[in-house]
Amino acid sequence: MSNIKVVKFGGSSLADANQFRKVAEIVLADPDRRFVVASAPGKRFSEDTKVTDMLYACYAKAAEGANFAEEFAAIEERYNGIISELGLDISLEKEFTKIKNAFEHRAGRDYAASRGEYLNSIVLAAFLKFEFIDPAGYIKFGENGVFDLEKTLSLLGPRLARCEYAVIPGFYGSMPNDTIRTFSRGGSDVTGSIVASAVNAKIYENWTDVSGFLICDPRIVENPEPIKTITYRELRELAYMGAGVLHEDAIFPVRKAGIPINIKNTNRPMDRGTMIVADSDETSEYVITGIAGKKGFSVINIEKDMMNSEQGFGRNVLRALEKNGMNFEHMPSGIDTMSVIVNTDAFKPVQQNVLDEINFRVHPDHMDVEDDLALIAVVGRSMRKARGTAGRIFSALAHAKINVKMIDQGSSELNIIIGVTNEDFEPAIRAIYDIFVATAQK
Ligand code: ADP
Ligand code: ASP
Ligand code: MG
Repeated sequence: MSNIKVVKFGGSSLADANQFRKVAEIVLADPDRRFVVASAPGKRFSEDTKVTDMLYACYAKAAEGANFAEEFAAIEERYNGIISELGLDISLEKEFTKIKNAFEHRAGRDYAASRGEYLNSIVLAAFLKFEFIDPAGYIKFGENGVFDLEKTLSLLGPRLARCEYAVIPGFYGSMPNDTIRTFSRGGSDVTGSIVASAVNAKIYENWTDVSGFLICDPRIVENPEPIKTITYRELRELAYMGAGVLHEDAIFPVRKAGIPINIKNTNRPMDRGTMIVADSDETSEYVITGIAGKKGFSVINIEKDMMNSEQGFGRNVLRALEKNGMNFEHMPSGIDTMSVIVNTDAFKPVQQNVLDEINFRVHPDHMDVEDDLALIAVVGRSMRKARGTAGRIFSALAHAKINVKMIDQGSSELNIIIGVTNEDFEPAIRAIYDIFVATAQK
């Protein structure tokens, strides 16, 4: 273990010159902050457009063969504005020409999007007086397009060992034939995690625009409290269920190396933020650690007398889904009933085929489909020890006049999944937050 800190700054942290100044102050305050991973400039205000989205739109025009000069000029303006306001003595003109050329030659959508972090990192490296390292040569994907951690670590580790201070663009790497490939949206978090793992960092600081991972989505509950400590597993459950602060794949590289992540707020660096750790003996402050959820699920309800004694029943139902290229989210079952919860958008185009196949395979007595279901995950490592958590959730929801359509406790006892109608989604999250956090005794 070294003393090295790897720091990643998200789009809003690097949206304009003023944000760049905050970033420099944070980085330069600690000589251990040696490797900086940068996102593309994000939104400066809520109706603003992220540079990544501008690049996708601009490239879509280029790929159609349409004129994209205006869109490209707007992107150039974002960078030139930052450079001039910071009084930097650099010019990106040559880079802009190269990129425009590549757009005309259809260099690809991933290449286009990646230029957002590429250009921003050149500017940030100049401002910090750090070396600039292009991840294209070191972060590698396999032939199948899947990220190759082993190969990446073998290339990136030795490269960073030869360098004291560097800025590395987030979000992309390259294919075996050297074409650029990006991670999915929000992927700079993944790059930060890879860099932290490659230098065996002491900590991976992920700097964003909130003071940590909040107990629930701030767009649903006003000013939710930040979580102080969360385990990787809890975080993964929450990230999977839609808590969007950290890319869900950002956990693997650091988890393997046992490096903690600290989510911090660029606009309030004094706040402690959230620590994400491998294991915590510490119980959480509240019975629950966090709440997250998603709308847009459907339930297939299947009934058949004596289902429980029919061998292969569940397997046959799942085969019917598999045959139609569907996976499922949850499958709560009773003695004579089974429900399968699926993503509505994926299900609708194949619904009739799936139902026909289930009918054919298991001959249910009754089957129906309900749409407009939302799933809420209540996650917490302390729930295992606390009695009556499910009961408290039920009574809070009953009190708020919310009908619970489904409940499923994960086998890890780390989470309870609750199904409600899409309409009840936000009120349900507020009711759960209130009972466990807002009105809880500390
Ligand atoms: P960055 O650009 O720094 O990567 P993101 O926009 O990807 O930042 O993630 C931060 C945003 O995630 C917050 O501004 C907030 O709106 C949203 N968010 C959703 N759920 C949560 C949560 N549980 N805790 C904190 N932020 C959340
Ligand atoms: N700029 C990319 C995006 O908007 C990657 C990131 O910000 O992490 O998705
Ligand atoms: Mg992000």
